Amino acid sequence: MSAALIDGKAVAGRVKESLKTQIASLTAANNQPGLAVVIVGNNPASRVYVNSKKKQCGELGIYSEEHTLPETVSETELLQLIDALNQRPQIHGILVQLPLPRHINEQQIIEKIDPAKDVDGFHPVNVGKLMVGLPAFLPCTPAGVMELIKETGVTIAGKECVVVGRSNIVGKPQGILLLREHGTVTICHSRTKDLGEVCRRADILVAAVGRAGLITGAMLKPGAVVIDVGMNRNQHGKLVGDVDFPSVQQVAGWITPVPGGVGPMTIAMLLQNTVQSAAQLI
Ligand code: NDP
Repeated sequence: MSAALIDGKAVAGRVKESLKTQIASLTAANNQPGLAVVIVGNNPASRVYVNSKKKQCGELGIYSEEHTLPETVSETELLQLIDALNQRPQIHGILVQLPLPRHINEQQIIEKIDPAKDVDGFHPVNVGKLMVGLPAFLPCTPAGVMELIKETGVTIAGKECVVVGRSNIVGKPQGILLLREHGTVTICHSRTKDLGEVCRRADILVAAVGRAGLITGAMLKPGAVVIDVGMNRNQHGKLVGDVDFPSVQQVAGWITPVPGGVGPMTIAMLLQNTVQSAAQLI
C-alpha cells in the first residue's frame, strides 16, 4: 500500500484564489486589507518566511509593509512600534516573526498586539476564545492542518486523533481544533512513555515536533491520515519533516509531503486571517 499525497500547495492555491473577490471588494470600498510584518535580526529562515509572505500579499492585492529592526533593538522600541501599528486603521494584521532575540520577552510582545489585529492567533485573548469556542483568529499552522485533513474526505468526528508536540503555536491549538470537530484527542510530548504505542491508535496523526524522521511506519495504524508539520534540515541541508516518509508512505492512507504540505497552508491561513480582519469578520 502506498499513501495518497495531500497536496498542500494546491489546497493553499485554492484558499488564496477564493480570497481574491473579497480583497477586490474591500479595496474598492477603500479598505484594502493591510498586513505589517515585523522582523528582528538576521535569522535566514525568518527572512525566507517574511519574503514569501510579502510576495504572496503582493500577488493577492493585500497591502503589506515590512519593519526590519536590528538584533540589538530594545524591548521598549519594539513595543512602541507595535503600539504605532495598533493605531493605524490601514493595518489590519500585525505579525511579529518569531523567534525573537533572547533579551526580548516574546510573551510581552505578543500581548502588546491588539487582539483585533492578531492574525497569528497567539494573543491570550484569541487563545482563550478558541478554547471556549468563540470566533477568534485561529493560529495559522493548526488551521491549515485542519484544511488538509478536510481535503482527504476523512471525517474527524469520533476518530482517534494523536498530536505529537504541545507547543503553544502548533500542538496545543491543534488538539483544541481537532476536539472542536469531535475527535478523541491525545497530545504527546517529550515525556510520553511509549510514543509508538500511542501513535498506533491514531486514525489521524499530526506530527509537530522538530525531530527529523521521528515518526516511522512501524508507529502507525494502516490507512492513517498523517500530517507532517515538522521542518528540519537533514545532514545534507535538505528540508525534511518529522515523518520518515519512505516507511510511513508504505503504511499510511494519506500523507503530506515536506516541502509542499503544511508550509504553504500556514501562509494561506495568515492571508485569510488578514482579509477576515479587514472585513471585520472576527
Ligand atoms: P517546539 O520546539 O516549540 O515544540 C516541540 C514539541 O515536540 C514539544 O512539545 C516537545 O515536548 C515535543 N517533543 C520533542 N521531542 C519529542 C519526542 N522525542 N517525542 C515526543 N515529543 C517530543 O516546536 P514547534 O511546535 O514550534 O514546531 C514543531 C515543528 O514544526 C518544527 O519542526 C517547526 O519548524 C515546525 N513548524 C512548521 C510550520 C509550518 O508552517 N510548516 C509552522 C510552525 C512550526 P516538550 O513540550 O515535552 O518539550
